[in-house]
Amino acid sequence: MLTVAGSDSGGGAGIQADLKTMLALGTHGMCVVTAVTAQNSLGVQGAWELPVDAVRAQYRSVVDDIGVQAVKTGMLGSAEIVEAVAELIAGTDAPAVVDPVGVSKHGDALLAASALDSVRTKLLPAATVATPNLDEVAQLTGVRVESEDGMRRAAAAVLAYGPAWALIKGGHLSGDAVDLLTDGSEEHWLRSPRHDNRHTHGTGCTLASAVAAQLAKGRSVPEAVAAAKEYVTGAIAAGFALGGGIGPVDHGW
Ligand code: PLP
Repeated sequence: MLTVAGSDSGGGAGIQADLKTMLALGTHGMCVVTAVTAQNSLGVQGAWELPVDAVRAQYRSVVDDIGVQAVKTGMLGSAEIVEAVAELIAGTDAPAVVDPVGVSKHGDALLAASALDSVRTKLLPAATVATPNLDEVAQLTGVRVESEDGMRRAAAAVLAYGPAWALIKGGHLSGDAVDLLTDGSEEHWLRSPRHDNRHTHGTGCTLASAVAAQLAKGRSVPEAVAAAKEYVTGAIAAGFALGGGIGPVDHGW
């Protein structure tokens, strides 16, 4: 499996969360680093993108020799990297889980505003499953969701850009953590009790990687998402304090 994402020096999110998830789910994880962040439990102190040629070269090295059963994309940073990655995954015969990472939990921008259009028109159409949270839905589509009722509208707005499936993550609403998976005809509502745990750094990366890991093992999209939701719910329940801020979800539960 391959993750195309940014490095989190604190080890809680990004490439590090992805590789831990892939290992925990019994797959071989490979990575294309798009950006390096200086980051800890308090936030992102700095971020540096890699040259787009370095992103392309990493991808080609891995896919041309080793091959890949599923790809996950996370933090991409710039429009140039978004467009290169969209082209690479569209040309690869493996399912792609696209986590359209916009802003970290601490409010740090992980995607340039100038890249939003490329995400909408190039990256989302190449996705097998797109996994936006409600902030990302609002940023990408203008649809603002304040209750479960709005999640169908959010999914329709995301699907309009062309991913095969949309997984709308309602975890930022109050009450149960409810997600909606749909391809425009089937609807799957996934519900889990809310864990009263602030140590949730890396949740989105972990969920998207777990979906990709299950797809790599040959599961259907609804089966993969259901298993991934179970995995991330356990990882959130086991999230633990590190540093002075928000600690990571745990992959060893
Ligand atoms: N850092 C990197 C490199 C990421 O890819 C992400 C999320 O995708 C984050 C930070 C944000 O993680 P969180 O919002 O869970 O704190």
